[in-house]
Amino acid sequence: MRIPFIAGNWKMFKTRAEAQAFAEEFKQLYKDTDVKTAICAPYTDLATLVEIFKDTKIGVGAQNVHFEEEGAFTGEISVGMLQDIGVDYCIVGHSERRQYFAETDETVNKKTKKLLANDIVPIVCVGECLEEREAGKAKEVVETQLRNGLVAISNEDAIKIVVAYEPVWAIGTGKTATPEQAEEMCEFIRDVLTDIFGEDVADEIVIQYGGSVKPANATEIMNMTNIDGALVGGASLKPQDFVNIIDF
Ligand code: PEP
Repeated sequence: MRIPFIAGNWKMFKTRAEAQAFAEEFKQLYKDTDVKTAICAPYTDLATLVEIFKDTKIGVGAQNVHFEEEGAFTGEISVGMLQDIGVDYCIVGHSERRQYFAETDETVNKKTKKLLANDIVPIVCVGECLEEREAGKAKEVVETQLRNGLVAISNEDAIKIVVAYEPVWAIGTGKTATPEQAEEMCEFIRDVLTDIFGEDVADEIVIQYGGSVKPANATEIMNMTNIDGALVGGASLKPQDFVNIIDF
């Protein structure tokens, strides 16, 4: 069965000293649970987090990666570099990368394949913006992102992927999708995954919801049938808030 997975996304927050202070406090507050947990941090914080969490079940993730092995790509970081640090997860296709850094379904697909080939779990983000939702196109948009982002991935690899449904209008806005809205989309995502990979594989894939998740709304979101976890931005920056979400 699917194991719940709650990941934090720090975005461009926290210096190394701040990451260290967070990690030490979080480690004290964190209770060993069956819920999988990870923090996806800026590159500069990754080694610090891996070191502090090394004797715990808390995973560490990056927020982006380049799809080439190495080369003249100034400013980029490769999968091998993440592996070398000991990173477990990597977010791919976050809406902020799609919006500000020209991430496309094609680059999402290349990055996802590269991560899978190197044993780092991709957290593949999909989600519609407000205009698309208001035009009744939410499902169409998400289906296209899934089909193009996950093209030519084997069933064996697909099982390892985490999909994060993040409606853009709910990210960092304080507006959460209602649990029913989130469930409707996550159920739809599972249907699309079933169509691509078959029912057995789709049943295994962990689907997270992301968008203004906080301690106060985590339980009702996590109780939905097709929601297996959460990708948490703002509320993952404070150790107590993040622990309360994991304890949902
Ligand atoms: C995110 O960054 O993926 C996110 C969901 O942010 P927030 O929880 O702050 O809405």
